[in-house]
Amino acid sequence: MIRDPQTLQALLDAVERFVRERLVPAEAQVAETDEIPDDIVREMKALGLFGLTVPEEFGGLGVTMEEEVMVMLAMGQTSPCFRSLFGTTVGIGSQGILLDGTEAQKKKYLPLLATGELIASFALTEPDAGSDAASLRTTAIREGEHYIVNGTKRFITNAPHAGIFTLMARTDPQDKGAGGVSAFIVEANTPGISIGRKDRKMGQRGAHTADVIFENCKVPAGQLIGGREGQGFKTAMKVLEKGRIHIAAICVGVAERMLRDALNYAIERKQFGQPIAEFQLVQAMLADSQAEIYAARCMVIDAARRRDEGRNVSTEASCCKLFASEMCGRVADRAVQIFGGAGYIADYGIERFYRDVRLFRLYEGTTQIQQIVIARNLVREAMR
Ligand SMILES: Cc1cc2nc3c(=O)[nH]c(=O)nc-3n(C[C@H](O)[C@H](O)[C@H](O)COP(=O)(O)OP(=O)(O)OC[C@H]3O[C@@H](n4cnc5c(N)ncnc54)[C@H](O)[C@@H]3O)c2cc1C
Repeated sequence: MIRDPQTLQALLDAVERFVRERLVPAEAQVAETDEIPDDIVREMKALGLFGLTVPEEFGGLGVTMEEEVMVMLAMGQTSPCFRSLFGTTVGIGSQGILLDGTEAQKKKYLPLLATGELIASFALTEPDAGSDAASLRTTAIREGEHYIVNGTKRFITNAPHAGIFTLMARTDPQDKGAGGVSAFIVEANTPGISIGRKDRKMGQRGAHTADVIFENCKVPAGQLIGGREGQGFKTAMKVLEKGRIHIAAICVGVAERMLRDALNYAIERKQFGQPIAEFQLVQAMLADSQAEIYAARCMVIDAARRRDEGRNVSTEASCCKLFASEMCGRVADRAVQIFGGAGYIADYGIERFYRDVRLFRLYEGTTQIQQIVIARNLVREAMR
């Protein structure tokens, strides 16, 4: 749903200009230094990117899913590490509070998240609980007016920068499944929290992940999201369902960028006395990429519209994440192929995208987990 086309267009124009004039020129530097410059972060905040999904009453832009997708398609036209900084807050970090938080929790945290003053990380994964997230072992045991949290979270995006964590922990150790899990808002400066060293990753330099370690960390009972125990896994799944459409939109945007770079290269690069773009075998790679990008773009917009209509999009969100992330990987591979040897050399930039986009098939539910969700929904529906 697009509420007001003119307002959205103004936002998209501003984001496109920011991407073109500020982010694209900074890509190589960020990859080199592994840091996004402070002035760029300030501009992201000024543009309202941290508050994209926060309702207007709490100081955000309150975009619909379809509008969020349009912004992510524009943001995808540059290194995905930039999106990671605000997009993790927008996409998953703040969503637990937004979807299931109490009014008091929303009032306290959403305005700070909207301005970017606070960055929110989403802490679900653990060393022994990845795809099988419901088996998580971090505990939060109630003692009077507090919960005592113990455990380790792994690969947590923006952990070194986070002001708050949306933490999934087990409040009922007797219940080893999803029903024993609750969600909390944990302030990063709470005693008993330490952040591991930054992970050294394959790509997306400039975006940082790390372990988050909780040792007898005393979290006030009022930080339990929604004030009810046992709802945390449901909250996490709702958050991830929305996040999958968000990530799929980024996959489409980055694939468009890689195809554009490959096309420009194919037009300029001459072999056998003519631009390689004129060879049909190269054209096949361009055409397949364009067709798949178009298919993914249509899927993502359709899923976003359905979600805005209040429909259940569990299957569609997983279809989008599955197809768009795999498509993005194929486009990256073809783009490198079209660049030839230059595709393997860092100076040309495309190998960086090739490494960056590999992550999309892994996090927020691997490709196999999306397949499982889609098939499970299909079978369940057929057997009703
Ligand atoms: C850069 C990065 C950022 C991340 N950011 C966050 C974050 O902010 N917050 C957070 O909570 N997590 C985050 N993660 C964690 C990420 O979501 C997990 O890595 C991912 O869900 C996969 O879990 P795993 O790594 O434990 O792999 P595993 O679950 O061990 O999976 C290994 C392989 O087995 C396959 N597999 C597992 N189960 C099945 C099955 N039932 N059927 C078929 N195949 C299966 C998987 O598809 C995969 O191919 C991040 C990870 C990375 C790398």
